Amino acid sequence: MLSNATLYEPVIGLEVHAELRTRSKMFCSCPVVDSVSAPPNTAVCPVCAGMPGTLPVVNQMAVEYGLRVALALECTVNPVSIFARKNYFYPDLPKGYQISQYEQPLAEHGRIVIETAAGEKVIRVRRVHLEEDTGKLTHVSERGYSLLDLNRAGVPLLEIVSEPDMRSVEEARAYAEALRDILRTLEVNSGDMEKGVIRFEANISVRPVGTDVFNTRVEIKNLNSFRALERATAFEIERQTKRMEAGEKVEQETLGWDEANETTYSQRSKEDAHDYRYFPEPDLPPLWVEEAWLESIRANLPELPRARRRRFMEQYGLSDYDARLLTGEKALADYFERAINGKSKIHPKSLANWMTGELFGLMNQANITVADLRVSPEALAELVGLVASGEINPSTGKTVLAEMFQSGKGAAEIVAARGLRQVSDAAFIADIVRQVLEENPNEVASFKAGKQTVVNWLFGQVMRKAGGKANPGVVRAELERQLGE
Ligand SMILES: [Zn+2]
Repeated sequence: MLSNATLYEPVIGLEVHAELRTRSKMFCSCPVVDSVSAPPNTAVCPVCAGMPGTLPVVNQMAVEYGLRVALALECTVNPVSIFARKNYFYPDLPKGYQISQYEQPLAEHGRIVIETAAGEKVIRVRRVHLEEDTGKLTHVSERGYSLLDLNRAGVPLLEIVSEPDMRSVEEARAYAEALRDILRTLEVNSGDMEKGVIRFEANISVRPVGTDVFNTRVEIKNLNSFRALERATAFEIERQTKRMEAGEKVEQETLGWDEANETTYSQRSKEDAHDYRYFPEPDLPPLWVEEAWLESIRANLPELPRARRRRFMEQYGLSDYDARLLTGEKALADYFERAINGKSKIHPKSLANWMTGELFGLMNQANITVADLRVSPEALAELVGLVASGEINPSTGKTVLAEMFQSGKGAAEIVAARGLRQVSDAAFIADIVRQVLEENPNEVASFKAGKQTVVNWLFGQVMRKAGGKANPGVVRAELERQLGE
């Protein structure tokens, strides 16, 4: 019997690696290519292949992107930061070290406000630093070898390290999503999680609720999706809690996440900074960030997702849910505002419904983003306006949108060409209703015998006979009137 059972809470910190969408790599002029579609080893030079005698040169745009993130996270930017060598051997690291930042990172002491069901919470950001990505290994285990692609070696990487401020899986996910949205809004990262452009590492320990000790923590590496982050974190919290309850110790170790079996597995035991023998990179001078440069970057920061979401709720009267859906991606939020501010005067809430419902559905089906959309914001606004004014009914609106989505044609153009204007003419509709009732005497009889639901079926028949163009309100009223006679 457990009386006074101890409750445990997790202590979670996240390290996030985000690839920066610069045109060239961090320390050479090789292009940054798509890691999935580009042929392997086609964007490699002596610098990123780690040839002896080559010299790295810092990519200024990568620094600027890093500064955008640092400022958006309200960090203190260090006027001078130092690149350092992080030494370790792995086949995907041709130089035998990674150029990173250690003692003096680009920026420190920032924050991200997350929102969960419990409300808002500030998660502190410990540091933001620049480094380079490694190559990519593909293990062909059944053949007993691995393939190495160096296209990714040297791609600029931003590491964002939080303080261990998260206390639940939900908070960890909210933090990860908020950060992803910020990176996308700043246009420094594509947010394409499936391409591995954002990777998470979670530091997790468990302690009795009400204490402020920091127990031995484990680190789970290379979590490439929100789902993996969630599952791995939940798994590890449970594993550690069980050990604590059994009076066993948690070992400090680095874990991997086995996606298929949904378990963590040990990769390395105890790993400390001194194992990497960091030292200042002798081939790169200290990085100076001039105040004037920093201020110009600050002045050009876009409105961040949280601020924009709040504005969407206040200015357009959208629900938190809709505002969240529409502001997660800058391009999408821009699309919404262009549609609202165009010459068709439409209700923001209707537009939001059309976007998050029909349009997102079509986009998901076709697996495209807003950038590939053939429906312009103005065209969508026109469609929403046609439905609002009663020119076409909502169901016709969906048909028209589907055609706009395929052809890129305008809404009014499609409505005119296909004769889809809604018919509200009372005499015309009364006539069709009369015909349908005459053709279906059995259904009319069962309605009169008390089977009310039959009216919906009759409604469908009338709409079909009218080619889907009849005003549904007028049809329903007329049906009820004639059935009541
Ligand atoms: Zn290169």
